[in-house]
Amino acid sequence: MKDHYDYLIVGAGLYGAVMARELMDAGHSVLVMDKRPHIAGNVFTRLDHDIHVHQYGAHIFHTNSDAAWNYVNRFARFNRFTNSPVANYHGKLYSLPFNMYTYNQLWGVTTPAEAQKIIDEQRADAPKEPKNLEEQAISLVGKDIYEILIKGYTQKQWGRPCSELPAFIIRRLPVRMTFDNNYFNAMHQGIPMGGYTQMVANMLEGADIVLEEDFFDDRQKWASKADQIIYTGPIDAWFDYKLGNLEYRTVRFEEELLDQENFQGNAAVNYTDSETPWTRIIEHKWFEDLHSNKTIISREYSDEWKPGMEPYYPLNDDRNNDLYKQYKALADQEENVIFGGRLGEYKYYDMDQVILAALKKVKEIL
Ligand code: UDP
Repeated sequence: MKDHYDYLIVGAGLYGAVMARELMDAGHSVLVMDKRPHIAGNVFTRLDHDIHVHQYGAHIFHTNSDAAWNYVNRFARFNRFTNSPVANYHGKLYSLPFNMYTYNQLWGVTTPAEAQKIIDEQRADAPKEPKNLEEQAISLVGKDIYEILIKGYTQKQWGRPCSELPAFIIRRLPVRMTFDNNYFNAMHQGIPMGGYTQMVANMLEGADIVLEEDFFDDRQKWASKADQIIYTGPIDAWFDYKLGNLEYRTVRFEEELLDQENFQGNAAVNYTDSETPWTRIIEHKWFEDLHSNKTIISREYSDEWKPGMEPYYPLNDDRNNDLYKQYKALADQEENVIFGGRLGEYKYYDMDQVILAALKKVKEIL
């Protein structure tokens, strides 16, 4: 470690890593710190029994942006993984996202016209301007799909009734009238071969990195290490929660190593009923098959975040968005600190958006 750096980057996740790379390439010195014992933030993958385990939840890189795609391809080769989760509702399987396979499984229909007729009947009395997730879902896909594939899953994931959730959450779920199980409408999709951790390590090449050090344990000391700070932790933590806590959902992962080659035949199975306590089971080996003779699965349980837990999903409802705005106003007055990333900007970001946001920000700085 040197005595002094141009930039201190708090958080070695994707936002911090892109910032570090760009700042170093522009000739600046950077110190990257993270309180965890590893780099890569929530995209961290651990190699275990020849399986890259997505320890903080499944990450599937997908983007419509050539810039984001070209950028990540500088640091990793991507495989041809296509996300096609399967839904399990009371033991019966359905294809996701909602497409002709799903309508066939639900209603036995075989043509788009038959499927459309049923959907139209089922959404006939939905409000024209949906005010919440429930209304949005029913007006998009009708009652059956809402009840079987959306309601239970969403309520488990967010811990609130769909009628109290913002409509935008569901807008990312495509609805198709073709036989196409590709979850994402993205031009580019894949998993970095060799794991996300290696990809982030490649981004960080040349940076000084300190792990297992919490910026807040000695704020003064760390802040004095650099002229400027890029802070990617929770924005409310920076201000000692003085306006109140922003809310998140947290996820608990119950990992299991199984002495069998194939548990569920797919990377993701969503449990869409409300009785099953987990939201989904991820079988990590199917993201990148290294032919392990074992398999590792993670059951995901969603919970309300409390101080001390890992914050995962920002809860972008009105109360929290308003509070974020107040923190953002304070952040704008901070000199020499840039707030970025999912926690720093309190945003339900996809990976490509995080990368593009960092690239934009770094352009402004330089
Ligand atoms: N969703 C759903 N049923 C599913 C999968 C997703 O209703 O089987 C809805 C749900 O409201 C969820 C949102 O789509 O909150 C986004 O889910 P996704 O799994 O895409 O989010 P991720 O956790 O992967 O970011």
